[in-house]
Amino acid sequence: MLYNINKIGKDERMKQDVLRIAKKAFDEKLMAGTSGNISVFDRDSGLMAITPSSYDYGIMEEKDIVVTDLDGNVEEGWLRPSSEWKMHAEIYRNVEHVNAVVHTHSPYATSFAVLQKEIPVILIEMLPFLNGSLEVSPYASQGSSQVGLNAVPILKRKNACLMANHGVVAVGKDVDQAYLSSVYAEDVAKVYHMALTVGTPVEINGED
Ligand code: 13P
Ligand code: ZN
Repeated sequence: MLYNINKIGKDERMKQDVLRIAKKAFDEKLMAGTSGNISVFDRDSGLMAITPSSYDYGIMEEKDIVVTDLDGNVEEGWLRPSSEWKMHAEIYRNVEHVNAVVHTHSPYATSFAVLQKEIPVILIEMLPFLNGSLEVSPYASQGSSQVGLNAVPILKRKNACLMANHGVVAVGKDVDQAYLSSVYAEDVAKVYHMALTVGTPVEINGED
């Protein structure tokens, strides 16, 4: 139970968590423009707090975060929820240990998503933070449930994956863990890219 407080306090805490990580991800340049979206899910109430659609992260405040159920019914908020709310909902429905989703279009990772190229285990931190290689989930059109459903088989085993021709989706038991996975996804993609420009990266054995 991640948000074990009364409902009003709980919704506020959820919105604060989403806002804090949205600002952080934007400041770290993991989101270009208004791209990307972040949510947390409370399994007791069945509600998620999610970033609004196409909204400037620079001016985003707690009141702008939207609270919805997994069918998209808005419980709180004055803005439209992220256009990817169905992706977030399908991940929460199908991956039981996940309570937070961080979706970014971070540039290095997204370049491998565009190539539909898996990033093998090349750095030791890929084991604890990503659970191994960074796999690619099949392409689906923006805003569809299929975007989430295509990533589910990977996210049952891994903390992040590349979404073909789109970006990164990272998950965790809480929003800090999901954020950290999104940071490592970008970092390993950057290192892999740099290594590929000067030679052939050597994979390490994930079992070691
Ligand atoms: P939203 O602004 O609607 O969240 O969409 C951004 C995005 O990343 C779409 O995939
Ligand atoms: Zn996106």
